[in-house]
Amino acid sequence: MKKLIYCLTLILLSNILVSQKSKDIEIIEKPIVYNQERTKLSVEYLKERHGIIQTKPTITPKIIVLHYTAGGTIKTNFNYFNNIQIENARKINKDQSLLNVSAHYLIDRDGTIYHLVDDNLLARHTIGLNYCSIGVENIGSKKEPLTDKQVIANANLIRHLCKKHKIEYVIGHSEYIKFRKTKLWKETNPNYFTYKEDPGNQFLMNVRKLIVDLNLKSKP
Ligand SMILES: [Zn+2]
Repeated sequence: MKKLIYCLTLILLSNILVSQKSKDIEIIEKPIVYNQERTKLSVEYLKERHGIIQTKPTITPKIIVLHYTAGGTIKTNFNYFNNIQIENARKINKDQSLLNVSAHYLIDRDGTIYHLVDDNLLARHTIGLNYCSIGVENIGSKKEPLTDKQVIANANLIRHLCKKHKIEYVIGHSEYIKFRKTKLWKETNPNYFTYKEDPGNQFLMNVRKLIVDLNLKSKP
């Protein structure tokens, strides 16, 4: 009996150690609504915008795109992304698809990471590359540059995502133009493009310094 208890204790302890080891960073699950309507609009987006015909809005991520929200808080940005249809004010985007913009992750200024959309489902955050990319939004703007804690959180999240997916590139939204004339770019309307300056060059440099060992590409 004593032996059995000893064995069971050992098994329990090793399980605790393994689960602690695999839980490398803290991510708070905070899913936006991904119901039938978002699914339908996402399948349509894949077809109309990317020219990809599928019955489900699934993606195979190979690019991580870093963004900033250009203002707001976790609450206001979450509520915004949670809307399924895009607002009228975003006319350039609305003309191309009714699907609202969103992102897979949202990172607060203190580095807290929220997970909004399953990594393998489409989120609309980067023209031409949504079918193969994970979008990471950060609370901040040009006037309110991203924090050191966000630098660390983004680097940790990238490291975590590289263990789960075959990620080849990490780019800032401002850098997506470099993919425009390549095979990776899938957008049926050659004129659909908007210039972006998020998430800021200094931030990108700082994140890249922490993930040099991952050998990820910044351009095609
Ligand atoms: Zn962006």
